[in-house]
Amino acid sequence: MKIALTFDIERDIPNYLNTFFGVKIGLIKILKLLDNYTIKGTFFCTGKVAEQQPWAIQLIEKKGHEIACHSSNHERLSNLSYNECKKLISMNKKIIENECRRSDIIGFRTPYLKPPHFLFRILRDLGFKYDSSISTRKRIHYYNTNLYGIQEFHPLDIYTIFRLPFSSFLLRKWILKKKLSILYFHSWEAICTRSIIYHLNLPRKSSFRIDRWINTGDNFMIRINNFIKDAIAKKAEFITLNQLIN
Ligand SMILES: [Zn+2]
Repeated sequence: MKIALTFDIERDIPNYLNTFFGVKIGLIKILKLLDNYTIKGTFFCTGKVAEQQPWAIQLIEKKGHEIACHSSNHERLSNLSYNECKKLISMNKKIIENECRRSDIIGFRTPYLKPPHFLFRILRDLGFKYDSSISTRKRIHYYNTNLYGIQEFHPLDIYTIFRLPFSSFLLRKWILKKKLSILYFHSWEAICTRSIIYHLNLPRKSSFRIDRWINTGDNFMIRINNFIKDAIAKKAEFITLNQLIN
């Protein structure tokens, strides 16, 4: 069985916060965990992270992980026109490639996993080779996912998978039975989002959906660590998405 661990590196809980605690603190924890097991992951980074926290891009690159794109500042692309989307994705690719000093970034993931219908045309025109935006739950609604020569890698759509209080064990077992699983997480899941929400004294605390704060921080790190241990014991192979293309 093959497992791709993928991480969206972006501002904290997009749509709610504009901070980067997940990048400054959470990313370091994630990189350390992967180092401990000598696993390489795929990191979908926004242009804003490259602009405001360039060290983060350089560190991911230095550690030999795959870097991919995740839009300019986590925009809801399905609300934008073709030209607006193309401009944002192109800016994202340029700034990331500039930071990595390379020109071969081939992967893209749409924020909120809500791709516009013309996405694949844009990705082809900008030199991408794969997309990972259409979740396993939604794949039946899309036809010709390899249209324009872009390979689709469907991520499992339950990003809270390891943070659910009761079902995580069963879900983990289920994942370990699959031939290929693309799991996706966020840098901010590795920090205690509840304490940030309280610390910032945000006015509408109750409006934060439960999946944005339950078992984030240390609990998340423990759960993902346990999963990796289980997977290694079952002889899983951890891969990056660009390895699947090659
Ligand atoms: Zn995202």
